[in-house]
This record gives sequence, C-alpha cells and structure tokens, in this order.
Amino acid sequence: MLELTTPVQYVKGIGPKLAEILATKGIATVGDLLNYLPFRYEDRLNPRGIAELRAGEMATVIGEVRNSGLFRTRRMPIFQLTVGQGRSKLKCLWFNATYLQDKFKPGQLIALYGKVEQDSRSGELQIIQPQFEMLGDAGGEGADDKAAASLEVGRIVPIYESAGQGRVTARWFRRVIRTALDDLTPDLPETIPASVRERLALVSPREALWKVHWPEAGESFEALQSSRTPAHIRLIFEELFFTELGLELKRRQQKAQTGVAFQLDDRVRQAIKKILPFHPTSAQKRVLKEIADDMQQPHPMRRLLQGDVGSGKTIIGFQAAIIAIENGYQVALMAPTEILAQQHYFSARKILENAGYRIVLLTGSLESDRKREVRRHIAQGNAQLVIGTHALLEEKVEFAKPGLVIVDEQHRFGVLQRLKLMKKSGDGGGKTVALTDSEAGTTDKNLAEPDVLVMTATPIPRTLALTLYGDLDLSILDELPPGRTPIVTRRITDDRSPEVWDFVRKQVAKGHQVYVVYPVIAENEESELKAAIKMYRELSEKVFADLKVGLLHGRLESELKDQVMRMFQRGELQILVATTVIEVGVDVPNATVMVIEHAERFGLAQLHQLRGRIGRGAAKSFCILMTGGKVTEEGERRLDAMVRTNDGFQIAELDLELRGPGEFFGTRQAGMPNFRVANLIRDRQLLELAKREAAAVMAGPNPEITQVEISRALVALRTRWQHTYGLVEVG
Ligand code: ADP
Ligand code: MG
Repeated sequence: MLELTTPVQYVKGIGPKLAEILATKGIATVGDLLNYLPFRYEDRLNPRGIAELRAGEMATVIGEVRNSGLFRTRRMPIFQLTVGQGRSKLKCLWFNATYLQDKFKPGQLIALYGKVEQDSRSGELQIIQPQFEMLGDAGGEGADDKAAASLEVGRIVPIYESAGQGRVTARWFRRVIRTALDDLTPDLPETIPASVRERLALVSPREALWKVHWPEAGESFEALQSSRTPAHIRLIFEELFFTELGLELKRRQQKAQTGVAFQLDDRVRQAIKKILPFHPTSAQKRVLKEIADDMQQPHPMRRLLQGDVGSGKTIIGFQAAIIAIENGYQVALMAPTEILAQQHYFSARKILENAGYRIVLLTGSLESDRKREVRRHIAQGNAQLVIGTHALLEEKVEFAKPGLVIVDEQHRFGVLQRLKLMKKSGDGGGKTVALTDSEAGTTDKNLAEPDVLVMTATPIPRTLALTLYGDLDLSILDELPPGRTPIVTRRITDDRSPEVWDFVRKQVAKGHQVYVVYPVIAENEESELKAAIKMYRELSEKVFADLKVGLLHGRLESELKDQVMRMFQRGELQILVATTVIEVGVDVPNATVMVIEHAERFGLAQLHQLRGRIGRGAAKSFCILMTGGKVTEEGERRLDAMVRTNDGFQIAELDLELRGPGEFFGTRQAGMPNFRVANLIRDRQLLELAKREAAAVMAGPNPEITQVEISRALVALRTRWQHTYGLVEVG
C-alpha cells in the first residue's frame, strides 16, 4: 500500500530514472504526485458530434483517422488530417509539422481538442493545431493497454501538463496517477481539524484525490475547468489553511519575543505634533495611531505600511522615529537608492533638525574618513536618526541603542526577506544591523529586538499582502493629502512628438517642471528604442536649446546623480531626461508633466510608480504616454488601464491578472510562495476563508490545536517558501 509520504519511485511503473525526472517537477512523494492536478479536463463521455460543431467553440472530438498527408505551400509545409464520424468529416491542420508525417494510420481512434474555425475559402469547419491523443492501442505495452485505454474514452478525462521529457507525457501521468490511486492506502488520515471540516462540509482527502483526477460523470464541467469542484476546494483549502495556520503561529512566536515598550506620554505627543508642517489626513492619523499603539507593546513591532505613491508615508515614518528617539533610542531609516536616501536626509533635516534631533546620512559614496566618523557617531549613540541605503544592512553598522528600523519604498522586497536584526555578540553591547541568517545564532537573548516598520508604495491587494507578509501587521494609508488634482493621462503615438514638446514648453513657461522618461540608457542596447542619452542631446541642444535640461540615469557617478537631482529639486533644471531611476519616491511637487517614451515597454506597476512622481502639488498634472512602434495586445491593456484610472489598487489587480503573481513581485526569489495546488489569484476567496479559519482555530489563549497540526503548518511554511529566505523565518 502506498502512503502519501512514500517516495514516488515505489509507484508501479516509476523507476529511479523517471523518479529523477519527476523530481525536477517537484514531485518526490506519492502525495506530491497526487497533488499534480490536471490543468484541464476533456469531456469524452459526451464528445461533440462533428455535425453539430460551431465555429468559435472549444471542442473535444473523438473520431477515426480517415487520411492524412503533408502538402507544401509557398510559405511552409502544412500537415493535414481528416477525421471522420460516420459520414461527417473534420479537417485538422498543423503548420510546419513535418514530424507528424506517418504518425496516423487510417482507422485509428483519435481524440482532438481545439478551437473550431471556419475555413475562409471553403466555408468548412476545421481545427487548426489541435491537441490530440491517439486512443486504443497506441503506447504498445501489451496487456495493460486495454485497461489503460478505458481511462481515455467514455468519461471525463484529466489532461496533465507533460514533464517535457520523453515518456513523461500527459498520458503517462494519467496512467501512473491512476495506479497510485489504486494502490493508495484506504485509510488516508484526515488532516484538517474536525470543527473546520464540518463547518465547511469538506470532502475527505481520499474522495478529493480520486475525484480531482477522475471526476464522476455527473460533475459540472464548468466547476472542473475552474477548479471549483468539492474535490478541488478541499485540496486547495487544505494547502492554504496550513499555510495560514503556520503564519498565525509565526506571528504568535514573534509577539512572544521581547521588544522595546516605548512610552507615549504628553511630552512625546507634543514632540510628534510639533514637527508637522501640515495637517495630517485622517488616514495618516489612523495609521500613526496603529503604529504608536504597536510601539508601546513590550514586543517587537513588525508592521507593513502600505500607501500609494504620494499618500504621505514619509511624515509617518518621521513621527514614529520621534517616538523612539524621545525614548532614548536610535532609529535607522533605509531607502533603496542613494537619491532617495539623500532626499529623506534633506526632508529630515528640514523637518526634524530644527526640533533639535541629530541626523546623519550614511551612504556608500561618502568619503571613507567621513564614513568612519559617521559610524562612530552611530556607535556612540550621538546620532539619533541614521539615514542610508539598504547598504546599512550590508555594512553592519553598529548602533549603540537601536529602537526602530524603517525600511522605505520596499517594493522589490529583496531586503525585507533578508532583513534580520541581531545583537552584536560580545563587546560593547551595541547592536549590529545584519542580514545573514547564520549570524543570527549569536543573538543575545537579553537585549530587546528593535521595532521594524516597512513602508511600501506597491498596492498589493489585501489578501495577498496578508499572505505574502503574513508575519507582518498591516496598516493601509488609503487617502491622498488634500488639494491634489487628479493626474490627466493621455496616450499619443511618437510621430506626434512635436505637439508634445509644444505642450511641455507651455508648462515650463508657467513655471512648472517636466520629466521625460526613456526605457534604456544608451542607444546600442536596443537599437530601435530611443535612448535617454541620445534624446538628452536632441532635447537639450535642439528642441529645448533655450531651456535648462538635465540627464539622470543609473550609470552616472552617484555624486553627479545627486547633483542633478538636487538641481531639479531646487528648480534649477526645467526638464529632466531620465530612465527609471526616478521611479521610486522622488518628490518634486513642482513637476507637473511626465512624458514617457516607449510607454509600451514598461510594466504596469512601473508606469504607475513613474506617474506617481507628478501630481504631488496643487497644480494640474499631465502624464503623456508616447508609444513608438507596434503595441502588443497586453501592452494595449496596460496603457488603457493607465489612462482609465489613477487608483493603485485597481492597477495592481490588473497587473496581477496580466502577469501573474510571480512576475508581479519580481522573480520567485522575491518571496512568492510556491503553492502546489492553490493559485493566489484564482483562489483569493479561499485564501480569505483559510485565513479566517486558521485564526478561528488559534483564537483564545489555549487554542485547540494538536502537535501534528502544528508541525503540518510549519512544514507548509517551509515548503511554500523554500525558494526564499527568511521572509517567514521558519523554525
Ligand atoms: P509617499 O507616500 O509617496 O512617500 P510622501 O511622504 O513623499 O509620499 O508625500 C508626498 C507629498 O505630500 C510630500 O510633498 C509631502 O510633504 C506631502 N504631504 C504628505 N502628507 C500631507 C498632508 N497631510 N497634507 C499636505 N501635504 C502632505
Ligand atoms: Mg516615499
């Protein structure tokens, strides 16, 4: 008998060789194999009669091979197959498919799946490049074939993704999964707690596994294709439930650690109020309260502050910093780029230095003497607010008394995952902000963990955020400061650039500033694209020869970058030609126009981030998306979305839809959990449900949860995040 934990090579028909191939698909155990779900199903119980097919539909057709052959057109060889059912016939075509020659013998039974189309010339129906499967005796392995063949007709048939290597075809999966199910132990243990299972009326694991692979004749075909049968729901829920349970455990564990319980008395309150250069929005007030409440707890804060670009996160960060500083602690504020670190430094000096706080900037480009001095100030506790890039982590800066770490504009998530705060071992009692896991072993248990506040401008849909950052608490800044007029966004093809430049000139004449953004730096990168450097020349020497134009891109020396940025900030440059280095966080309220050339080349989230650089002041702002060359269908949808809405959350949703979560968040390494049967976009409602149920199970001081369930939850975390590191510190 097979157990779910049995290594997959003990399934009949799988030897060590095949097991190795399966391992590359993440299939190591029988459980893994049985959770390799069909990506679609074919209804071969009621296949379509050829005579009733209609153009435009997706159809499964079972018929007999009549004849086939290759014919050559001037452009390419085309393989043609005619399939019959009694008197009706259906033509199928494959382009460039010489490999199909001699594959089909007249009289063979074949199943075809594809989109029915009407031949424009003859008016006949046909299917172009259908997927197909030979039925009956193909496979040629003797006595088992009859039984195997019965798996393929006269029922709803599961279709699997092949492993792309020789024998490991869709059909092979079907047979081998069937064998595994046949030999599976009859008493498969129930994993989900009884109360949850009953409340949700979930089917048993055995029933779920059988029916998800071999649906019964009456099953709704639509439910199957959308993964919404009771069998699917049970399996998906199970995976999400244990992940959420693990995250819940994790949070509890974190809450149990010792942190700093900051005092928030009248004096501190006054200090926070005093620095405000404007009236905070009610969202800002609410979020600050959430943060302040958290900081007063004797446990470390782990909080994500999510707020669209321009929603005013910086001042909240400063206010949180004051709470820590007024309590005698130091604060580290980290930004992803030097430009942003600089910018924070300038605003911190403007807002905080007058109030008497001691602020230092520590970035890679400082002279080494200066760096040493700054480090000393930090180590001695003189510096109260330390602003730097994420290199603050890498460089292991030693703090005398760190109380709060603020990570800004973390929308690539690389750092967050690696972010670990640890106490310095041995001498001095100071703390190092360090990032490697191996060093965490030296943690000194007597010192309190600093609080962490992560601020991100990426509007992640709430459910996703709650899972991706399941170990963080979430605050949402969902209101823009008053007095902003919505940005007007327009699309225009780049043959009309003279009109655009005219418009730019008029805006500059009104005293405003303009960004012009290009996808690449130098021309040779992608020859047909306009590059920032070349266009800078063109714009500064010809089109706007009378205006002050600057150039900013990632390859400039950082000193030069700073200089350019500062000039733009001070209004000494009217037009800034740039690449996406300005994407994040740059704040120049007087800039009211953003021209993006080759806008079709940018991702949706990126376009939205770029556009967030304007519309920051009271004056009306304009985003002009110029396209050059052909725009793909997906590109069209991105540009449409940009024109249609300014709402970051709507844009995030669409971006997720278009690209899938992996792409949306960067690579897999960027922290996307690696689900087996669940899909974070498709299964969002089940995710909510799983989260609620996990919280319910864990509610109260003595949750009724068994050791087995706990370890299952921890294993779930470990496997979901096995490609990443530390986001959810598993252990
Ligand atoms: P982000 O959330 O993108 O980091 P910032 O903190 O840079 O946004 O704020 C954007 C702009 O809005 C800044 O110029 C800031 O001074 C201003 N701002 C923030 N909060 C308010 C407010 N409550 N009233 C008026 N202006 C505000
Ligand atoms: Mg910001």
